[in-house]
Amino acid sequence: MTEQLKEAQNEIIKYGNIIDRKSFSPGTSGNISVRHGDKILITASGSTNGDLNAEDLILIDFDGNTVEGSQKASSEKLLHIEFYKKRKDVNAIIHVHPPYLSSFAAARQGLEEPVMAENVFYFGKIPLADYALPSSMALTSNTAKYFEEYNAVLMANHGFVVGDTDLKQAYLKLELAESYAQIVLNAKILGGAVLLSDKEVAEIQALK
Ligand code: 13P
Ligand code: ZN
Repeated sequence: MTEQLKEAQNEIIKYGNIIDRKSFSPGTSGNISVRHGDKILITASGSTNGDLNAEDLILIDFDGNTVEGSQKASSEKLLHIEFYKKRKDVNAIIHVHPPYLSSFAAARQGLEEPVMAENVFYFGKIPLADYALPSSMALTSNTAKYFEEYNAVLMANHGFVVGDTDLKQAYLKLELAESYAQIVLNAKILGGAVLLSDKEVAEIQALK
C-alpha cells in the first residue's frame, strides 16, 4: 500500500468519526470518498461512520469496479463517480443524512434564499434534486446535473451531498450547511428571515 493511500484511509476514518460525533448521519447511513489518482477510495456499503477501519475502505475505478477491498463498495458509488467526473477540482465527497438538512430534503425545499452572508459566500444556493430511489441511476442523474454549478445538493426525501478540494474542506462545508439549515428553520419559527437584498448579495459575492 502506498503512503498516499494510507493517508487517504486515515483521513476518511478521521472524518467518519467527526461526522459520527456530530450526529450528522445516523446508523449506517451516508458514505465518504476521496479521489486517488484515477481511482476512488470509498466507504463500504453498510459501514458505520464512527467505527470505520481499513477493511471498510474500498478502492474502485471510475467504472465502479472494485480494485482493492473485500467488502461491497457503497451503494452510492455512482453518485460519487459522477461528481468526480463532472468536477476535476473536487477531490473528496461526503454524502450524509443530517437532521436539519434532511428536514429540508423531506419538505422538498432547497436552501435557495439569501439568508446568511456566509452561506451566500460559500454556497450561493443549495439546490434540491428531484426524488429518486437511493442508489439508483435516476438518483445519480437527478443530482449530478447540479454538480456543474454547485458543490452541495439536497436530495429530496433522502439527504445531502457535498464535494470539495479535500476532505477537510468538504467536511467544513457540511458543518456550515447543517448549521445553516438549522438557522433557516429557526428563523421560520421567528416569523421568517429578513432576506438580503440583491445589492447585499452582490457585495458578498464581490468579496471572492
Ligand atoms: P451505503 O451504506 O451503501 O453507502 O448507503 C448509505 C446511504 O446513505 C444510501 O443512500
Ligand atoms: Zn443516503
